[in-house]
Amino acid sequence: MISKIIDERLIEQCSELIESAESFCIVTHIGPDGDAIGSSLAMMHFLRKIGKNPVRVIVPNAFPDFLRWMPGSEEILIYEEQPEVCNEYFRTSDVILCLDFNSLNRIGPAQDIVRSSEAKILLLDHHLYPESFADVTISYPLMCATCEIVFRVICRMGYASALDLNIAECIYTGLMTDTGNFSYNSNNAELYIIVSELMRLGIDKDSIHRNVFDNYSYQRMRLMGYCLYKKMQIFPQYGTALITLSDDELQQFFFKPGDAEGIVNLPMSINGIFFSCMLREDKEHDEIKVSMRSQGTFPANQVAKDLFNGGGHLNAAGGKSTESLEATIQKFIEHLPDYFEKQNN
Ligand code: 5GP
Ligand code: MN
Repeated sequence: MISKIIDERLIEQCSELIESAESFCIVTHIGPDGDAIGSSLAMMHFLRKIGKNPVRVIVPNAFPDFLRWMPGSEEILIYEEQPEVCNEYFRTSDVILCLDFNSLNRIGPAQDIVRSSEAKILLLDHHLYPESFADVTISYPLMCATCEIVFRVICRMGYASALDLNIAECIYTGLMTDTGNFSYNSNNAELYIIVSELMRLGIDKDSIHRNVFDNYSYQRMRLMGYCLYKKMQIFPQYGTALITLSDDELQQFFFKPGDAEGIVNLPMSINGIFFSCMLREDKEHDEIKVSMRSQGTFPANQVAKDLFNGGGHLNAAGGKSTESLEATIQKFIEHLPDYFEKQNN
């Protein structure tokens, strides 16, 4: 058995909220990743299984092709593409279930309607410092993924028998992607008890791995090669790597949502590199997307917060910049030494 980490009082409040409602909108963060889509679809399948109707999943913008195999993914609504339809769903739901983010600005264009909605808001998340916008907040930053919280909450509410293969596949995807295939944030023995439970429910973990990690276009592979060969700057004195990509460069490789996934992690396998940053121009949203990874105690989230209006986890963080790509690169390079003076002090 796994231990009861989540406060009993929160479980009761969550049960009450779910049991007294009929209609649900599930929403997750902009640039949805495996944990965002996994936790959303897992909760969609679960809520339907216990008789809730309607249950809808809305994401702010497009999600990567390598998550399209997931059960229920064809039903996901993209806010940017049909804001009016989504607004109506938000307006008419009893509960808005927020998954995998800690602040309403992380849902981008959907934040105003959610903020002004009369629905009850339930938040399940594992990012530090959740803002207080929800009626019930279940936030456990020590958990490796929101999907871990989803699994624990379903079991603790007494619905373990509602878990099925669809739910298990979605939960496994979030655990796998948010831990880099169990290579970081994954030292908790109970994580493997959960994985074993999901396997008992019938998941084929090898095929989920192939679906997610071996499903890219060849252009994305070339983009990766280009980043490593031509675009990676190393700052050996700071154990840091920087990769930058302009919109022109992305176009050359037929860039699609999700193609950048994992590229920022690559320099981390170089001996002596413990901090990696990627700056990518996003012309459509007129901003620079910032992604950061670190090892050990080096606070990627602090750098993202200080310089790029972002945040995240200690070792995986991000943000954005509305300055030009060149100005953003300069800002990063200029402020990099500050963090080493701080680290050394
Ligand atoms: P990624 O580099 O995979 O896009 O994001 C890594 C992590 O950084 C995410 O799980 C999220 O916690 C955080 N993150 C990414 N972008 C932002 C952002 O714009 N704002 C905040 N607060 N966190 C972000
Ligand atoms: Mn997550």
